[in-house]
Amino acid sequence: MDVAVCLFSSDLRLHDQPVLHAALRSAARVVPLFVVDTGVADAGFMVPNRAAFLAGALADLDAGLRGCGGRLVIRTGDVVAEACRVAAETGAGEVHLAAGVSGYALRRERRLADGLAAAGRALVVHDAVVTALPPAAVLPSGPDKDHFAVFTPYFRRWQAAGLRSVLPAPRSVRVPDGVRSEDLPSAADLCPGGKPSPALPEGGERAGRRRFGAWQRSGMADYQDRQDDLPGDATSRLSPYLHFGCLSPVELVHKASARPDAGAEAFVRQLAWRDFHHQVLAARPGAASADYRTKGDRWRYDDAEVTAWKEGRTGYPVVDAGMRQLLHEGWLHNRARMLVASFLTKTLYVDWRVGARHFLDWLVDGDMANNQLNWQWVAGTGTDTRPNRVLNPLVQARRFDPRGEYVRRWVPELAGLAGAAVHQPWKLTGPERAAYDYPDPVVDLADGLARFKRARGLE
Ligand code: FAD
Repeated sequence: MDVAVCLFSSDLRLHDQPVLHAALRSAARVVPLFVVDTGVADAGFMVPNRAAFLAGALADLDAGLRGCGGRLVIRTGDVVAEACRVAAETGAGEVHLAAGVSGYALRRERRLADGLAAAGRALVVHDAVVTALPPAAVLPSGPDKDHFAVFTPYFRRWQAAGLRSVLPAPRSVRVPDGVRSEDLPSAADLCPGGKPSPALPEGGERAGRRRFGAWQRSGMADYQDRQDDLPGDATSRLSPYLHFGCLSPVELVHKASARPDAGAEAFVRQLAWRDFHHQVLAARPGAASADYRTKGDRWRYDDAEVTAWKEGRTGYPVVDAGMRQLLHEGWLHNRARMLVASFLTKTLYVDWRVGARHFLDWLVDGDMANNQLNWQWVAGTGTDTRPNRVLNPLVQARRFDPRGEYVRRWVPELAGLAGAAVHQPWKLTGPERAAYDYPDPVVDLADGLARFKRARGLE
């Protein structure tokens, strides 16, 4: 074949890139294409933080392709219409694409296959690009079982399944002459009027590989012991690079599995959690918006409480620290995500979709599978085998921020409170209390717990 299109999506990299690799093998010339999909913006998914990261990732991908003699072709519009148009303009016989798992990605695949077939062209979809294992690679035994609903048995099978090998980065990419491209988009082009958080990570494959390299050298070995240490900030922070596909999960699993330490083993387990949620969403795309396992919740909604939660003014310092970090960095430690989500859905008893939407508005790694299904996990409507557990913010704070450093970092108005006293400013009285411009708790923890138990029929 003379020409093929490599349609980039959540796989913005050159290393271990099966989509580009296959396109280069099937055709003498390849169009590396990224469509700024107006459908993503229309669905409310193009937010300032991810737009900023994406702009960096596209610029980096273009630079990498130029290093191989190619370039990135940019178009804006409906992704299916634009990909079909580029294929027609260049006479491409095939369009190569990474398999997605969300309802949106699956519809895109079907529409693209139909559109291309109508013009005598083929869509070639590649697995194990976005995840380490394809969603249906391991299935529970039994009829009609199309996914695992519990992580531990999934993980056992996942570990036993073989991964594909890592592919080399291309040396040369020949793009057909004269293919029209728009300029690389800026964050403002991608999300007009949006204001990104002040401390976002740099987007792109090179930044991701640098971060992975540094973390492998100095963080991974202790990961198992330190992964819940809130002030220590000892996790990899690779999630945005994995979300946009700047790093390959297959390559990361191979590299970590080659190490003997328990930290690497724990890191691989977290990557398997990522695959786990993707295989749930692939089998149940509706779980992005509907309860995976309904508990018959009749959620409350109190505007003042939800606003206090979003702005980090609940009066619970560890919750507020997490929510403020989210606004500042577009990222949050997993332990903080869990405790702020538990506070919203269980202590305040607010619908998990309210919290999931707020996270998607801010997270630079905001991801349909990981976000929606982790929210459901915490809310107890998802795959947690102990769906009614409630994370008490005070217990969490004492355990994972015992000296109060995380709170003092993000809630500076409490910086004068030493040690763990910072977790309970409501204990102060008189002029001492008046010295701190910090709100009283929006809810009494015991009242919140009792309300949750009544709502779930646990009394
Ligand atoms: P590390 O601890 O270094 O883990 C390595 C990688 O493993 C992560 O980058 C991530 O890709 C994967 N991973 C780790 N924990 C999980 C998990 N529980 N579920 C799925 N994958 C995991 N992760 C996202 O990538 N996008 C989201 O939108 C997202 N929303 C979340 C919402 C809630 C309420 C909760 C509780 C968790 C959410 N997570 C999400 C999962 C997890 O919190 C983040 O992946 C992790 O904090 C990212 O930091 P890290 O890269 O330093 O992770």
